[in-house]
Amino acid sequence: MGYVCGQCGVEVQSIAEGMVRCPSCGYRLLYKTRDPIAKTVKVD
Ligand SMILES: [Zn+2]
Repeated sequence: MGYVCGQCGVEVQSIAEGMVRCPSCGYRLLYKTRDPIAKTVKVD
């Protein structure tokens, strides 16, 4: 299960229990990303 930082938006693949923190900026709010919100769609 992946997470996305609520501040800088970096993707976090896994976090340890009790260590919910962005490895990039240190923000403590991460959103779960079960379903991809943004999809890349090519339109010609
Ligand atoms: Zn962050």
